[in-house]
Amino acid sequence: MKEMIVETLSPEETFELGKKIGQEAMPGTVYTLTGDLGAGKTVFTQGVAAGLGITEPVNSPTFTIVQIYEGGRCPFYHLDVYRIGDISEMDEIGYEDYFYGDGVCLIEWADLIEEILPEHLVRIQIAKDLEKGFDYRKISLQGEENKLK
Ligand code: ADP
Ligand code: MG
Repeated sequence: MKEMIVETLSPEETFELGKKIGQEAMPGTVYTLTGDLGAGKTVFTQGVAAGLGITEPVNSPTFTIVQIYEGGRCPFYHLDVYRIGDISEMDEIGYEDYFYGDGVCLIEWADLIEEILPEHLVRIQIAKDLEKGFDYRKISLQGEENKLK
């Protein structure tokens, strides 16, 4: 297991980190994103999409749980499970197609569905530290060596 910590001082820097991850992401990889509301999960996700070559605008799929983007070098499955009421909603959307599919999958608020997360993950946590300023974010990335360069 490898762990990387990156500190960013602006949304642009968080976007750039996401973009770098997206450029190197291998199809089949699942990324989980955790952090409070406003931490920067969606900003990071937009960077990942850009890194995959997606030009369509990416926003949080709040009312649909999953949004699929086909315009990049591989499919991109963006899930935001913030509003999930019951884990059975994940069965309804056919989550296994996304977790075990041939695209890159990224899940915002993944801690809410911990019981069904796949074994192999790259876990990304974004945290504020107000003592270091409003725009400071500490981003921790944890995953297997080959999935985290
Ligand atoms: P989340 O998806 O985690 O709820 P968003 O990505 O939607 O959060 O929003 C993050 C907000 O924080 C944006 O308004 C963004 O401009 C702001 N922000 C300030 N500094 C940073 C930073 N270093 N990284 C990411 N976002 C930042
Ligand atoms: Mg979000």
